[in-house]
Formats: sequence, C-alpha cells, structure tokens
Amino acid sequence: MITTSREGAKAQEPKPVLKDGVVYSSDNGMMICSKCAGQSALFTGRDISGQKVRRQTAADAKAWFAFFGKPLKCERGCTEARA
Ligand SMILES: [Zn+2]
Repeated sequence: MITTSREGAKAQEPKPVLKDGVVYSSDNGMMICSKCAGQSALFTGRDISGQKVRRQTAADAKAWFAFFGKPLKCERGCTEARA
C-alpha cells in the first residue's frame, strides 16, 4: 500500500496564482497571462525583478482600446482582457 503525505504533495505542486483568461501587466508594462508568464510570476505573482504583477481590469481594457484602438492582449496574444 502506498502512503502519500498531503503536505509533501502540496509543497511539490505549487498552484499558479495567475488566473486563466486574465491579462496582467508585468515589469516595464509588459502584458502577460497565465500561459505566457514566467514561472516566477505564475507562482508568486511577482516577476523576476520582484515587481508585483497587476491584474488588468475591464476598465483597463476599455482605456487600452480607446487609446490604441485594439483589444488589450498579453504579449503573445494568447489571452485577451475582457472590456
Ligand atoms: Zn499570454
């Protein structure tokens, strides 16, 4: 019979703190999402320089669209912020 330690499993499988379908702004204003964020940002909510990533809100997406005339997307285009 195999016994597993719950605490051990928790420590080995950190949960991403970035949510799917949400665009975050990273250091230097770079847009990232849970799919294209680095491991640091994905699991700690901070990029490698230690800056906390900021969730882009619907208002941010609206402002972005008004300013740039295109939807707010992450750097790689895998996620679009909902306005
Ligand atoms: Zn992305």
